[in-house]
Amino acid sequence: MIAKFDLPGITFPHSCFPNCVVNSRNEIVLFKPVIPGEKLTIDYSTLYVGEEILENCKCGCNGCRGIILGFRYLPVIYQDFYLENDAVCAEVLTQINAGYHFPGHFKAE
Ligand SMILES: [Zn+2]
Repeated sequence: MIAKFDLPGITFPHSCFPNCVVNSRNEIVLFKPVIPGEKLTIDYSTLYVGEEILENCKCGCNGCRGIILGFRYLPVIYQDFYLENDAVCAEVLTQINAGYHFPGHFKAE
C-alpha cells in the first residue's frame, strides 16, 4: 500500500509509533525528534476511517499493533491520543464531524 500523503521522491512507510503525522490541515509534520538518516514514518491508521484491516503490520516497533486498521477501528486510547495532538488528517476529521459511526469512542447518536 502506498500512503496517499507521500511527497514526490519521498515514501512514508507505516509505523504504529510514527515520527511524522498528517495534521488537520493535511500537512505532514514531524511528531517526534528524528536522527539523521532515520526513516520517516506515518501511522496509516490516521489516514483512513473505515477500513477494518488495511494490511498486516511489520513495522517492528515496540508495541506494534500487528495489523493496520482504519481510524474507526483503533483502540480509543489511540484515537484520543491522535486527536488531542492534531495528528489526524482532514478527511478523517471530516467524517468524524459528519457523525461517521465509530464503534468505540465516537458513538452514533
Ligand atoms: Zn506496527
